[in-house]
Amino acid sequence: MRPSLLNPLFASITTLPGIGAKMAPLYAKLCGERVVDLLWHLPSGVVDRRFNPKIAEAPSGKVATMLVHVDTHFPSSSAKRPYRVRCSDDTGFLHLVFFHGREDWLRRQLPEGEWRVVSGVVEHFNNEIQITHPDHMVPPSEQDAVMTVEPVYPLTAGLSARMVAKTVRAALDRAPDLPEWQDESWLARQKSPGWRAALENLHRPDSERAVIEDSPSRRRLAYDELLANQLALAMVRASMRKLKGRPVKGDGRLRTQVLAALPWSLTRAQTRALAEIDADMAEPIRMLRLLQGDVGSGKTIVALLAALSAVETGAQAAIMAPTEILARQHLATIEPLAASAGVRIGLLTGRDKGKARDRILAALADGEIDILVGTHALFQEDVVFRDLALAVIDEQHRFGVHQRLELAAKGSAVDVLVMTATPIPRTLLLTAYGDMDGSRLDEKPPGRQPVDTRVLPLARMEDVIGGVARAIRAGARVYWVCPLVEESENSDLAAAEDRHRHLSQLFGDRVGLVHGKMKGPAKDKVMAEFAEGALEILVATTVIEVGVNVPEATIMVIEHAERFGLAQLHQLRGRVGRGTGASTCLLLYDSPLSENAKARLEIMRATEDGFLIAEEDLRLRGGGEVLGTKQSGLPEFALADLSVHGDLLAAARDDAGLILGRDPDLSSPRGQALRVLLYLFDRDAAVRTLRSG
Ligand code: ADP
Ligand code: MG
Repeated sequence: MRPSLLNPLFASITTLPGIGAKMAPLYAKLCGERVVDLLWHLPSGVVDRRFNPKIAEAPSGKVATMLVHVDTHFPSSSAKRPYRVRCSDDTGFLHLVFFHGREDWLRRQLPEGEWRVVSGVVEHFNNEIQITHPDHMVPPSEQDAVMTVEPVYPLTAGLSARMVAKTVRAALDRAPDLPEWQDESWLARQKSPGWRAALENLHRPDSERAVIEDSPSRRRLAYDELLANQLALAMVRASMRKLKGRPVKGDGRLRTQVLAALPWSLTRAQTRALAEIDADMAEPIRMLRLLQGDVGSGKTIVALLAALSAVETGAQAAIMAPTEILARQHLATIEPLAASAGVRIGLLTGRDKGKARDRILAALADGEIDILVGTHALFQEDVVFRDLALAVIDEQHRFGVHQRLELAAKGSAVDVLVMTATPIPRTLLLTAYGDMDGSRLDEKPPGRQPVDTRVLPLARMEDVIGGVARAIRAGARVYWVCPLVEESENSDLAAAEDRHRHLSQLFGDRVGLVHGKMKGPAKDKVMAEFAEGALEILVATTVIEVGVNVPEATIMVIEHAERFGLAQLHQLRGRVGRGTGASTCLLLYDSPLSENAKARLEIMRATEDGFLIAEEDLRLRGGGEVLGTKQSGLPEFALADLSVHGDLLAAARDDAGLILGRDPDLSSPRGQALRVLLYLFDRDAAVRTLRSG
């Protein structure tokens, strides 16, 4: 259970003054629904209101806070003219200017004949000094509250700067003192403030420097978050290691048959990865290994051979894919090979219901299925294996750590192999997988032709279509990917449908359409027709992104390529260049391109090395946005920005290792404080491993 001293932070923001049912959703959109989310909503800058000149000395363009006498109101005479209030001090006059000002309200704020403290940007206009819409107008007694360094927060529609600042301050007042979880000598070396002091420094800054991203306070909080992340991963890992494992070591008889049935031999990288996996499986501890390999590097066969090792010992294996299409494709690849060795394969997806599903489950429980291929349907509670020894999770970035554990729990001592085709930069890898053992397939199967990538403006559509027509006459098959529209599947679809209609007019009924809203069987049918060649052009939204394999497809057209993430473009391009024919990828962009977009498309043109592309993507876009969309499943950080705080990540990893080495149960005083840290950053699941282990 979460320590009660954190309760005030995890309370709903509606417990803060002035936040009711109407405001809460706006804050939820801005940063979150809990008090702690407001604390994490850090200022992007400051406004320094400490400058306190006389009217005559106030320079144009600067923020000033001035004590002025309110002389006369001049309500606006027409809708176009602003409401003006003339003020003065012993050096001169100042006009306060309000567009659409409400007279009754303004007279209450600025009573004639009284003194007021006003603060805002000073303008010199027609030989007059004025402030348009002052940020503050308060009685002289409140001068000190205004003459400060004011934090400036990111906003959202419906919330004013003043409201957000006030609410964050209220949240800050709820923040308790927490026990120090960081190493004291480390804090001293880094000149790092304590947790609460860091929050104070950021939300009540004394200068611009206090809030910049590499200020000691920002770094302190970023390090807290990264340590929570690394510690949680290390704990989950340690708890898996503690679970009983068993040595799985096949005799190779099934593998030999399957390898003999393959028309090619394994690449060196495949052989190396398989040896690493074999060594892990042979140990009496649980394997947790990540197999990273670019699209087309041949991960499937590695997964199958690993699975065969389990089957050779009389146990079962599961291979899980993130989508139905992919699960079916794995089945199609694996089944004929497995059949050559008499290995029985089953398929279980969300589409299997009722009797059919019951039959699969019964066969699984009886051990009549050796390898089960499927989607996340494999997680369901009633899916029971007779003896699961290996779980392979493909395209892991779509699944969470949590699910990884769940699948591992389905057998008595399950080895887990995680496969990802998304090249993840080393720094990000650490945040998602911690210290997980890794194998890399850094070599493509022989005979692959490089993909000729060209970057063209959309205005050259006619030429593109002409080129596609020529290629089709010569027997080519074409993927045509339509614009990705942020957060709107419907407009994605409309664009794809339009393009499908357009291309159908030109090319007739040999143009197919596949999109995310289609039902499984309909989708499979179109994909199958494209794979067989009944369709020559496949118009698609990004559903084809992951894993689809049609070696005859040699042309990839991507419209509005500038809207895609680099990782996504790389995945899409990986759909071609899989066969023996020369392949082309056309990246069509909407002019004009921003400098950054130009640089990103240029990288695509220049290289096919997924790891290089991923590193560049991180450099150009910063950590949070890498891999394009939120679907990446990589952890998102509220406080740490890896493009600035990247150096802290490795430190946090080492620190987590040291901590668990000395105090694996987190029972020392620092360990207790670290538990608070884990809860503070929602790593409850990690704390639970302490008890269950
Ligand atoms: P990934 O899942 O890593 O994207 P796949 O496992 O789907 O890649 O393999 C891509 C293609 O390469 C498949 O058609 C597969 O049969 C083929 N392939 C895999 N390994 C080799 C190899 N060593 N030599 C030749 N072709 C291979
Ligand atoms: Mg694959």
